[in-house]
Amino acid sequence: MTKCICNNNSEYAYILKNKNDEPINKITILNYIQNKELQNEIKTGDKYLVCKEKHDLIKYESLIKKCHFKHKSISLITDWHKDWQNNFEQKEIPIGNHIADVIVDNIIIEFQHSYISKEDVVSRNENSINNNKLLYWGVTSNTKLDIS
Ligand SMILES: [Zn+2]
Repeated sequence: MTKCICNNNSEYAYILKNKNDEPINKITILNYIQNKELQNEIKTGDKYLVCKEKHDLIKYESLIKKCHFKHKSISLITDWHKDWQNNFEQKEIPIGNHIADVIVDNIIIEFQHSYISKEDVVSRNENSINNNKLLYWGVTSNTKLDIS
């Protein structure tokens, strides 16, 4: 998963008419919450709400915490990963030269939502064999899966 170098939660976002535009047009979360027309344009995909690195942002409205913008894809991936991991007792366990997402007896389970290189897959596979573990992958994909 690629982490953003910019702030995960921000009071500001940029509005783009298309993804090639430079992020110049800045808006605060408070202005955004009041601007129903703009919210609608974001919803219909006419405009984009992004951080300085042009990642998609979503509004996080809260009565307890301060309202802010947060990263769309990163938070979704994290939630998916965390939800799965939380079904297990042993998580984030160092095995050999990797950290296993989950361990159940002699089985390692890795949850994969985003791109992973072939080298990384091979390396994790060898690592599990070297440490007498079986390796299972939990994979999700909303586009396609290349297995070679
Ligand atoms: Zn970002």
